Amino acid sequence: MPWERIESYSYWILFVAAFLAVAVWESLRPRRELSAPPERRWSRHGLVLVVCTVINVGVYRASPVVVSIIFAGSRYGLLNKPWIPFAGRCILAVLLLDLVKYAVHRSFHSVSFLWRVHRVHHSDPDFDLSTALRVHPIEVVVAQGAYFAVIAIFAPPVMGVLIAELLSVFESFFGHANASLPGWAEKPLRSVFVTPDMHRIHHSEEVGEQYRNYGDCFPWWDHFFRTYLAEPAAGREGLIVGLKGYQNDASLGMGFMLTQPFLRETTEAGSPIAPAKKAKVAS
Ligand SMILES: [Zn+2]
Repeated sequence: MPWERIESYSYWILFVAAFLAVAVWESLRPRRELSAPPERRWSRHGLVLVVCTVINVGVYRASPVVVSIIFAGSRYGLLNKPWIPFAGRCILAVLLLDLVKYAVHRSFHSVSFLWRVHRVHHSDPDFDLSTALRVHPIEVVVAQGAYFAVIAIFAPPVMGVLIAELLSVFESFFGHANASLPGWAEKPLRSVFVTPDMHRIHHSEEVGEQYRNYGDCFPWWDHFFRTYLAEPAAGREGLIVGLKGYQNDASLGMGFMLTQPFLRETTEAGSPIAPAKKAKVAS
């Protein structure tokens, strides 16, 4: 079977399996009460995913695996050198591609126009697995372009690119879960993978906490670059997610999500939208 087909099948099978697994986990042990019904959130955010997928395919007509196949024989790539063992090249590829996601995510918070685009993801008034789908098409195109560029430059093995892709799709749902692992499991797992309790801090309404915990799959880059935050200032129970001034039902509108990068940024004091309300904590 060609690599492109293996990628397509494995990606979408894992996408559906991870979504269902996290959905069951959230329904059994919800971390917080949501301000809108899950089916409404999932359908709206699912539509954003459809728009993003259509635009992304239209722009690039390629996937990470296809790009890695095209550049596999590059003379300049560092990760296609036969003197590095294959397993080592795959591990380096997974680490490199996760580092790229960390760097791209950080730039979306530090470059003015990119933040306007990325704030669509952060203006979700709640935090659950569907938040992972709430990404503006411009963000997808920019992030995918950077990802493809790094694959083209380093020429990592196709297997490493596929593993990185599958890890990322699982982590995108797991990391945004409206659920918490028990304490005995959360702490050790957080030293290896980004957990929901860790990533939820990044979605805090407190701006300083939005500059923390950028990691996609692994928490190591946050530790290395000193952007790691173990606990929010308000505590796990007191943490309020979203953006001040956008924590209301209008933020789930399709029109709003697609046009938000081009709207004037509101402030809590001067917001044309209802003021922030406290997120309810599930008992
Ligand atoms: Zn962010």
